[in-house]
Amino acid sequence: MDGLSPELADARAEIVRLRQQLDRQTRALDNLPIGVVLVDPRGAVVGRNAMASGFLGAGHGGVLVDEAVGRMIDLARRNGRASTDVRLYGPPLRVVTVTALSLTDGGVLALIDDVSERERLEAVRTDFVANISHELKTPVGAIALLAETIVDEDDQDVVRRLAGRLADEAHRAASSIDDLLELSRIERGGAAGRERVTALSVLRDAVVRSLAAAEQCDIRLDLDEPDPAVAVWGDRRQLVSAISNLIDNAVKYSEPASSVQLSAASDDGSVSFVVTDHGIGIPTRDLDRIFERFYRVDRARSRDTGGTGLGLAIVNHVAVNHDGRVSVRSVEGEGSTFILSIPEAP
Ligand code: ADP
Repeated sequence: MDGLSPELADARAEIVRLRQQLDRQTRALDNLPIGVVLVDPRGAVVGRNAMASGFLGAGHGGVLVDEAVGRMIDLARRNGRASTDVRLYGPPLRVVTVTALSLTDGGVLALIDDVSERERLEAVRTDFVANISHELKTPVGAIALLAETIVDEDDQDVVRRLAGRLADEAHRAASSIDDLLELSRIERGGAAGRERVTALSVLRDAVVRSLAAAEQCDIRLDLDEPDPAVAVWGDRRQLVSAISNLIDNAVKYSEPASSVQLSAASDDGSVSFVVTDHGIGIPTRDLDRIFERFYRVDRARSRDTGGTGLGLAIVNHVAVNHDGRVSVRSVEGEGSTFILSIPEAP
């Protein structure tokens, strides 16, 4: 073989094999979603994967991460292990955890992990728990106070009035719990029960669900029935819940004796469900935030109308579960139009 002695040929084959193995390991390291820096026993950097190079080369943030890596490597040499968080104030804020571990040969392995998303989710979770506690504390506190007052009250008229308020507060707490359970079911379940659902049946079922509330507020629901062939692939219960939440809002934020228009139409591969009211409208500055859980433009009005601040979060999640989207157009004092677009069933 190439006139080489068998020993040299074997050595060359071994070198080729080792090089291939090294290439494979380098590729694997480069594909890791965390940065890896390897330092030899003398303290010299002998390896760095692609992610680590990306972190360390990133401008001012890179300098801070580089400094933390050096510091953790020194500490790990002495203590076996060291870890720190580096906060890079963006925007967006990024949080990077640098961990260094000493190796048996006296070298050190440093790991650089971008934990920004984990931190963000943790902050969302903590906020959510704080918000739920606040939402439930208000009616539950009122229930306790009203019950205590009733115990000491002899006047039957006053007792009746207080009992009515007590029932209202209990209903308010129950609505919040219902919406929380609905949101959690929708968030957890994706769009599990997918089937072919006609737009007409979704609108009709949603109208049935919201009719009593509309009649109570003297609001007419005008359903412009779509072609029965217009359909989406989706979870019927979620879609009805989304449209019904949009109708409930349209009713809540309109004056009595007005009307709400409902329609659906197929448009460029999507079905757009449209709910239009002629109510108070939404200030432009709030439009970006109304789909957040518990966000309200007017806390007092939402509370007076039995709002939980979760309706539009539910609608948004139904859209996400169906690869669709929800949008809004609104003019203060004139009204709002919400459009839920869901991919059309083939
Ligand atoms: P709520 O239970 O308070 O109605 P939502 O999540 O359903 O909570 O809506 C968030 C906020 O968006 C409401 O508090 C209200 O300020 C505003 N909003 C939603 N729908 C409408 C609408 N059709 N007209 C005017 N404001 C609306």
